[in-house]
Amino acid sequence: MPLYIETPLIESRSISRKVGQSIWLKMESAQPSGSFKTRGIGYACEEYLKRGAKRFIASSGGNAGLAVAFAGRRLSVPVIVIVPETASKRAVNLMCLENAEVIVHGKSLDEAHRFALSLMQPTDAYIHPFDDPLIWRGHASLIDEIFRAGLKPDAIVLSVGGGGLLCGVIEGLKRNGGSDVPVIAVETEGADSYGKSLNAGFLIELANISSIATTLGARIVCEQALAYSKNHRIESVVLPDKLAVSASLQFLQDHGIVVEPACGVALAAVYEKVGALSGYKTVLVIVCGGVGSTADDLVELARLECDVAKC
Ligand SMILES: *Cc1c(COP(=O)(O)O)cnc(C)c1O
Repeated sequence: MPLYIETPLIESRSISRKVGQSIWLKMESAQPSGSFKTRGIGYACEEYLKRGAKRFIASSGGNAGLAVAFAGRRLSVPVIVIVPETASKRAVNLMCLENAEVIVHGKSLDEAHRFALSLMQPTDAYIHPFDDPLIWRGHASLIDEIFRAGLKPDAIVLSVGGGGLLCGVIEGLKRNGGSDVPVIAVETEGADSYGKSLNAGFLIELANISSIATTLGARIVCEQALAYSKNHRIESVVLPDKLAVSASLQFLQDHGIVVEPACGVALAAVYEKVGALSGYKTVLVIVCGGVGSTADDLVELARLECDVAKC
């Protein structure tokens, strides 16, 4: 039995009416760990267990660590998650709730990552948050579900952090005869390592992450994400934090579900009717979810962004 669930696929009447296109939502926020990460990470954990892993080690400030913790509990495999000092209390508590051992180490995710690797024993499996073909294969199941439901959208909108979701979606499109469906890859300003790499034609590493959407804060994306852009139609959209937060709040109004700004930014591309989406009749948004923000956090973030903008 897979560790992920088949998530709802719904047409949003409220958003469709606002933007004048048919907007479909794949509700990955409904996964047991609160994000799509359970698909790929769950699949990778099951594979590593089959190959003899006795323990899973991860470094993450949030949803990836939580997905590993969840998979470990379900598979009865011990889990250690190294989280940087910047990780939210809420994320740490949720990982503990899944019985993971959580170690706070380092000021950044890079430091946490190096420390995690230093702990590795021969029978441990390191579970990367996005750069692993097993993870992409697992994420691809969400596209299987969409095609099985009989929907072939004219475009797919998704968020990009390290590019794991993007690679999974394209793998899913390939195996379902959907290679002609363009993908709109959305990031926040200051976490736009993918947009910058697409423009350059080679991988660009950001010196630092300046966006509040820390979930999207991979300083460099996986190579496969860039490689796919050479044979699949992928368009980059980069939007400010402010619009990501306001889209999360609008989505809470429209659908009663709290998602992180990391997910809000994909919704913002739709709400803001960005040029990259014009001309498509049926648009599918991957509502990737995320447990890092509460409704109160979103309101507070909106207030802070407002102060910055002096409104
Ligand atoms: C991990 C994550 C992302 C980014 O996914 P990548 O595979 O790193 O591109 C976006 N949104 C949420 C909620 C996530 O958990």
